[in-house]
Amino acid sequence: MRFKYCKEGHAMDPSWKLCPVCIAPLKGWLVRLGEKHTGEVYTIHEGKSFIGSGAECEIRILGGNLARQHAFLVVSDICSIVDMGNGEPLKINNAVLVKSALIDGDVLLLGDFSFKIKLL
Ligand SMILES: [Zn+2]
Repeated sequence: MRFKYCKEGHAMDPSWKLCPVCIAPLKGWLVRLGEKHTGEVYTIHEGKSFIGSGAECEIRILGGNLARQHAFLVVSDICSIVDMGNGEPLKINNAVLVKSALIDGDVLLLGDFSFKIKLL
C-alpha cells in the first residue's frame, strides 16, 4: 500500500483528509538527548502509537538502529510503553523493561538513541 504523509510525518491512506494521529489530543513529546540533537522532538498523541523506523509508525525514528516496529506507547490518562522485542532491549532510566508506565522526565533508550519523555 502507498502512503501519503501528514505535516508531522505520520503515514496516511491517500484517501484520508485528516491525519488520525494529529487530530487526537496532544499528550507530550519525546525529546532526543545529546548536545547535537537539541530541538529534535517527536509528538505524542492520545491513543496507541508505534515507535520504530517503519513508515507505518506514528513515531518514526530513523538512523538510531531501531527496529521497524520497536515499541509502542499507549496514552490516555496515563502513559505506558511496551517493548515489541524486535530490536535492542528497551531501557527506561537505565533499566531493561519489557513494559512500563512512564512519567514525565523518564529517560528512554530506543535503539542507539536516548529520549526524555515530556508529558502534559
Ligand atoms: Zn499526523
